[in-house]
Amino acid sequence: MSNDELEKLRQRAKKLAVEKSYLQLIIQLMSRISMVSGLENTIDNLLHSVVDVIGGANLILYYQIDDETFYTDVYGKKQKLQTIADPQVAEAYRSGLPTEYEHHFKDTQLISAEFTNAYTWVYPLKVGNQLIGVFKMESLHIAMRELYEHLPLFFNYIALVLKNEILGYTRLQQINQQLEQEIIHRKQIEKDLRHAKTVAEEANQAKSIFLANMSHELRTPMNAVLGFSKIMQTDPEITESQRQNLNIINRSGTHLLNLINDILDMAKIEAGRVVIETEPFDLGETVRDIVDMMRERAESKHLQLFHTENSALPRFVEADPYKLRQILINLIGNAIKYTETGSINVRFNIKNHVDQNKVWLVCEVEDSGVGIKAEDQGKIFEPFVQVGKNSSQKGTGLGLPITKQYVNLMGGTISLTSQVNKGSLFRIELPVSKVSAEDIMAIKPHQNQVVGLSPNQILYRLLIVDDNFENRLLLKKILQPLGFQLREACNGQEAIEIFQQWQPHLIWMDIRMPVMGGKEATRQIKALPNGKDTVVVALTASVFEDQRDELFKAGVDAFVSKPYRIDEIFSCLHQCLNVEFIYQALEPQPVYVSEHVPVKQFKALPAALQSQLHHAAGQLDLEQTASVIAEINALDNHVATGLQHYLEQMDFQAILDLCESR
Ligand code: ADP
Repeated sequence: MSNDELEKLRQRAKKLAVEKSYLQLIIQLMSRISMVSGLENTIDNLLHSVVDVIGGANLILYYQIDDETFYTDVYGKKQKLQTIADPQVAEAYRSGLPTEYEHHFKDTQLISAEFTNAYTWVYPLKVGNQLIGVFKMESLHIAMRELYEHLPLFFNYIALVLKNEILGYTRLQQINQQLEQEIIHRKQIEKDLRHAKTVAEEANQAKSIFLANMSHELRTPMNAVLGFSKIMQTDPEITESQRQNLNIINRSGTHLLNLINDILDMAKIEAGRVVIETEPFDLGETVRDIVDMMRERAESKHLQLFHTENSALPRFVEADPYKLRQILINLIGNAIKYTETGSINVRFNIKNHVDQNKVWLVCEVEDSGVGIKAEDQGKIFEPFVQVGKNSSQKGTGLGLPITKQYVNLMGGTISLTSQVNKGSLFRIELPVSKVSAEDIMAIKPHQNQVVGLSPNQILYRLLIVDDNFENRLLLKKILQPLGFQLREACNGQEAIEIFQQWQPHLIWMDIRMPVMGGKEATRQIKALPNGKDTVVVALTASVFEDQRDELFKAGVDAFVSKPYRIDEIFSCLHQCLNVEFIYQALEPQPVYVSEHVPVKQFKALPAALQSQLHHAAGQLDLEQTASVIAEINALDNHVATGLQHYLEQMDFQAILDLCESR
């Protein structure tokens, strides 16, 4: 090999080595660029990597997103461009071709002549025919000149990376925009919903308050209607037919009042105005009262009502007795309403509560009636929902919602299991506190039945000694209308003075009083002349036996515990002074002989029909009564015509009397 050839080979090897190093440079660049993702990161990384590896006075990237042009340079300046002011870049956009611009640094003294040449490269970034942007590298060192030839590979790669990032970016933007739109839309919907909810709630509240007020207003006149018709019924002057009309007024009035009460209760619940008022009461008595009352209703439908109580059931409890009453009446009432044959079982039991003083009262009302379909079982606790064939004729659809709300307000639960045509079982669990018998004294006094004093008795003088004005007033209100002579004293001292002047037959003696207490006053009175002839009845809230002993020793003759029932006052007067009272005569039962229906013929009808008629008329149920009469018509036209006459007159009483006659 000649020297020449050797030299050529050497040159070639040198050139290859240089090319290899350029290619390595480019590969290095490419690998740096692929290290990040995201459009902005990629651009920043691109500019900084190029300036690190290749150099240049300034590097600028122009790129397109949709139809807009953006500018970013290596110094961090970023902007959206309206027009491309740089003519070299504009030219690249126009021609789509890369251009090299050569220029000279003239004013430098530091740099030797060979370094005064510099280059600016403007390179369009293309993927196929699509222009992605333009890359401009200003004032590149002459030493980089040879790199230029190797750059297409690099710029093609850059174009591809940028295209991908721009695509990703626009897609992200679109998604973001969509999301934003969706969020705005959703927020608006939420706002609308909230607004609608508030409006609805306000309207509902307003409705409930209106209903509550209106029902309340309606109740007042209803009470007057019922009260006066009741009073008139006892008037001996009225005729038989007037009495029957009054009966109708009374029954219809009671029915109407019940409806109003239901609506009032529901409205009060919805308006959030129901409060639970707990008090000690006699659970045993309450349950017995309700069951006895409902048994009559059940028997009028030839249903049996069984009542069982677990022996552990506490007799006295603290809860809301009025709500409990209504809950039980509603459940047992429904059981009777929706059962045609068989029986109703009411069971009471207890379950332990976490709280020692409380127990769970468990009550089950089971019937053998029509049952409730599984799909209806959830609905029937909603207001005004009635399911089943004839239920709308039987009620308002408010009983169960009220029951459920009351149970929940009292801290309990209600559940239902039912099978169509087999029957239903409603079960409630209510927390109640156990209380002692003494607390039960707070129970309201029984209805006073005494209306006067029997004639030919002496004029009794009774002295009321109590420092509390209301207590004296209460006794006065009970006793004065009956014709007793009364005087009052505010303490033991006054009592002794009045005793001396007036010599009462009996003294109602409060024990704890200022100035002088009841015990001391009794002792002194009993020591006075005639003192022993006067009966002293201690009115005391204390129940301790030893205190009673002390009072007996002081001379007290009898006790009445406070708070007392009115009848306890009367029975005490009877026992101590032998006072005789007149009791209210029982309401006379109207004897009614049917004018339009021959009784014998009516009694010949099947017993079931008679009882259905009795039930329907008892409920003042027009439609039901009419439908029973239609059935009777098929058997006995004569009787049916008479009954129809009564119905047209709304004379349910006449129908009832007929059913009850023998
Ligand atoms: P309603 O005044 O109609 O009796 P309720 O709220 O008390 O209203 O009851 C709602 C509905 O539930 C009734 O219409 C009836 O269809 C059904 N239902 C309630 N109790 C019973 C039951 N013991 N047996 C069968 N269906 C019942």
